[in-house]
Amino acid sequence: MSKSDYDVIVVGTGAGGGMAIKCLCDAGLKVCALDAGRRLDPTKDFRHHRQPYDMPFRGMGDPKTRAQSYGYMDNEYVAGVWEHEIGYSSAAGTDWQWPRCFNVGGKTNFWGRSSARMGDIDFKAATLDGYDVDWPVSYAEIDPYYSRVENLIGVASTVQNRPSNPDGHYLPPINLRCFDHILASSATRLGIPYLPDRIAQLTVPHNGRPACHYCGNCTSGCDVGAFFSTPWVFLPSSEKTGNLELRQHALAKNILVDADGQAKGVLYVDRITHQEVEVHARVVVVAASCVESAHILLNSTSPHWPTGIANSSGQLGRNLCDHLYGNAGKGYLPQLFGQPIYPDSVSSSTIVWMPRWQNLDNPHQERFIRGYSVYPEGGSVDFPVEYDQIEGFGLEYKHEIKRRHPAPVHFTLQAPSLRSEKNYVDIDPEKRDVYGIPMVRVHFEWDENALLMWEHAKQSCEAIIRGAKGEYLGAGDAPETPGYSLHETGTARMGNDRDKFVTNRFGQTHDVHNLYLCDASVFPYCTDKTTTLSILAFTMRTCDYMIENFRTGVHQRV
Ligand SMILES: Cc1cc2nc3c(=O)[nH]c(=O)nc-3n(C[C@H](O)[C@H](O)[C@H](O)COP(=O)(O)OP(=O)(O)OC[C@H]3O[C@@H](n4cnc5c(N)ncnc54)[C@H](O)[C@@H]3O)c2cc1C
Ligand code: SF4
Repeated sequence: MSKSDYDVIVVGTGAGGGMAIKCLCDAGLKVCALDAGRRLDPTKDFRHHRQPYDMPFRGMGDPKTRAQSYGYMDNEYVAGVWEHEIGYSSAAGTDWQWPRCFNVGGKTNFWGRSSARMGDIDFKAATLDGYDVDWPVSYAEIDPYYSRVENLIGVASTVQNRPSNPDGHYLPPINLRCFDHILASSATRLGIPYLPDRIAQLTVPHNGRPACHYCGNCTSGCDVGAFFSTPWVFLPSSEKTGNLELRQHALAKNILVDADGQAKGVLYVDRITHQEVEVHARVVVVAASCVESAHILLNSTSPHWPTGIANSSGQLGRNLCDHLYGNAGKGYLPQLFGQPIYPDSVSSSTIVWMPRWQNLDNPHQERFIRGYSVYPEGGSVDFPVEYDQIEGFGLEYKHEIKRRHPAPVHFTLQAPSLRSEKNYVDIDPEKRDVYGIPMVRVHFEWDENALLMWEHAKQSCEAIIRGAKGEYLGAGDAPETPGYSLHETGTARMGNDRDKFVTNRFGQTHDVHNLYLCDASVFPYCTDKTTTLSILAFTMRTCDYMIENFRTGVHQRV
């Protein structure tokens, strides 16, 4: 293989990039994958089998530097893994907290694994409630791709027949915990579904990977590959094809264009040597995650593309959506005080969910449109979260912590923001990163609709805790900072009208026929479901389309 000429360059190796690499290598195409980070070594980089008391700062990191942490996932268990060197900026009035994992596999190394399908209630939401646009894809079209992805990666759940949640192909679910049974009874009495989540974690061996051994702390990485991640699932088989060259520490700066303004390669900065390197290919796939992909395209200016490559619609960077996350309610279930302590953090995952139950019969039934879902959590986890809610000292204090340890519960809201003119990313005219690359700047605020969901969810969760005869302790004062959920969508929406959308319905940019986007940047908006399963399914479909374009000569091989 020539070192400088490939069929396809894939920028990013997370969910979208990993799937693209797999599909394209399997099809016999010569692929060069660029990743801004390194390949992690589970034996050194993941410390998830350690207990809080094994870590100098109980896993939470040095208090002197804790303020620079991006939050709960950027901790001592994975020190040095989250990106801190390359910055981003927030516009005045925007508070955007944005953990980024610039490493091979991206955020799939540490994700929460909740993997619901989207359905026509999502893709045709505009037809139902009159807001914004429909997706240019129907459920019938994407259904077979969801099935292929689920069979490939392994997703545990049950068939639930919910109107908002199409069922898929599932491995046996993870068992409910004691507190789940109590909360489920209360929720069911209120007409709120309380069910096993869809989770990309193996409850039985699957496709050569072992079943989960429930050690917990998956958000610090899995050393046996029992949950889906690109390094465990896609890279080994892609490397076996002999068609992949993976370049690490390769920070893509911009897309290179030929005399016709079509893509001819990528210019990247080697983060070890600080040298700029050009790599050429017939097709470029950008899969650096929603905002980073827009960042690269916006920085790809040329006489053909003065405002960024493939931006004749002016929509590049626009229409950013995110999930509003927040603690919608917390409390204790006193019936569990003093009960035996079980490892309820068995997989530190969303074992259960309360899938969307609002606006199902009538899209305008509630004061908000669309809907949200909720993840209940609780029980005995590694660190006694209740320690600071209990007064006392010495042995008596310790006994009280232990007595209450099986009993705390809380609910995390996942509510989609609506598309808005106010929410977008652009290039900061003043700030550059350590490599001299202009930074991406985020403009974002929660919309009224998402905030109404937040109020509704708090009332629902209070009712569930009280209905379970629980001690209700309130909800979070405010939603989490935007960016926290890591489920951002938009910035290069797909649609049929080239004047209004950046890509066509296959993720191929309208302007540049050999430039594709394979992440949530192409999603028209956020729904109540998480994004990764859909990134995988839509990427697989994009790759089928691209491979057919190679077969029919639309794209030439090297
Ligand atoms: C703690 C946590 C919990 C989560 N829980 C869930 C969940 O339950 N369900 C769910 O669906 N999703 C969840 N997510 C989100 C999920 O991880 C993302 O949706 C998914 O990883 C996005 O895939 P991606 O390919 O778009 O981006 P990423 O996985 O972020 O991959 C992007 C890749 O691009 C590379 N890159 C970025 N910029 C450049 C550049 N300029 N040049 C070269 N390479 C670059 C990065 O190194 C990385 O490899 C969670 C994430 C975290 C961290
Ligand atoms: S609980 Fe299961 S999936 Fe999570 S890290 Fe342990 S073995 Fe891996």
